[in-house]
Amino acid sequence: MSPAAAEARRAALLDWFADRGRDLPWRRTRDPWAILVSELMLQQTQVPRVLPRFEAFLRRWPSPAACAAAPLADIVTAWAGLGYNRRAVNLHRCAQAVVDHHDGALPDDLAALLALPGIGPYTARAVLAFAFDRDDVGVLDTNAARVLARWEGRSLKPKEAQAAADAAAAPGAGWAWNQAMLDLGATRCRPRTPDCEDCPVRPWCGWGDAGRPSPDPAVGSAGVSGRQAAFEGSDRQGRGRLVDALRLGPVRAADVARVAGWPDDPERAGRVAASLVADGLAIADEVGTLRLPGTSRPHAS
Ligand code: SF4
Repeated sequence: MSPAAAEARRAALLDWFADRGRDLPWRRTRDPWAILVSELMLQQTQVPRVLPRFEAFLRRWPSPAACAAAPLADIVTAWAGLGYNRRAVNLHRCAQAVVDHHDGALPDDLAALLALPGIGPYTARAVLAFAFDRDDVGVLDTNAARVLARWEGRSLKPKEAQAAADAAAAPGAGWAWNQAMLDLGATRCRPRTPDCEDCPVRPWCGWGDAGRPSPDPAVGSAGVSGRQAAFEGSDRQGRGRLVDALRLGPVRAADVARVAGWPDDPERAGRVAASLVADGLAIADEVGTLRLPGTSRPHAS
């Protein structure tokens, strides 16, 4: 694509975003901690489920220091309803590392962010773009990855996709550009029903402008997630049930299979309980009773 065409596409997308971008609470702040909290909550969780929890979380823990000082059990309990509870552990660990190594303030450096627990390439770039307005990074979530593959008209390898995302970012408009890419992917360039007729960048989209020939280049392209495995009957469902129960109190070893939803499969329940312990989401005492980390053990009477 010529530099002039790339510039025209940038202008069209930024104009569209200025007019049609979604108003979301994490778009009204540039606080790096708030951005990080929103990004971790939004990973694999739909916006409507994040909305009520985002502001409540920040009211309670408005800084890395506040989060780091809290018992992990409180963070995991506040995560109820968001799913993928391991993110709560990651956020807590990250807050502690920020306090220990960065005087309580998230760094504005890619390598330093990537070195923090629980922060991967997507989240690090999201913090840089959305908190620090950096225009040399392209945030590559599944939405942006889908858009980029369709623009290119071919599936991309991981390094190509990240390089394309970084190169596409609009000079001087890092925040707006990256938000616009996420909105374009979420509201127009949808996985199965892209709305090319109402897309602001169609003239510069290789696949859309060609009439969407089969196959869709986004399928199998780097960073584009496939269909999620069914939740019903999965280990994830058993993990969720166990963590939900642990939010209310300890779970005795004898109750683990029933609480996990597999009363006839204690082996599977035990394996899933062990995975919670390995992930830092639970601790087990000498008789196998599980509890959330950071909760105090009952005093012996
Ligand atoms: S023209 Fe279609 S395929 Fe291309 S970016 Fe727009 S919605 Fe996606």
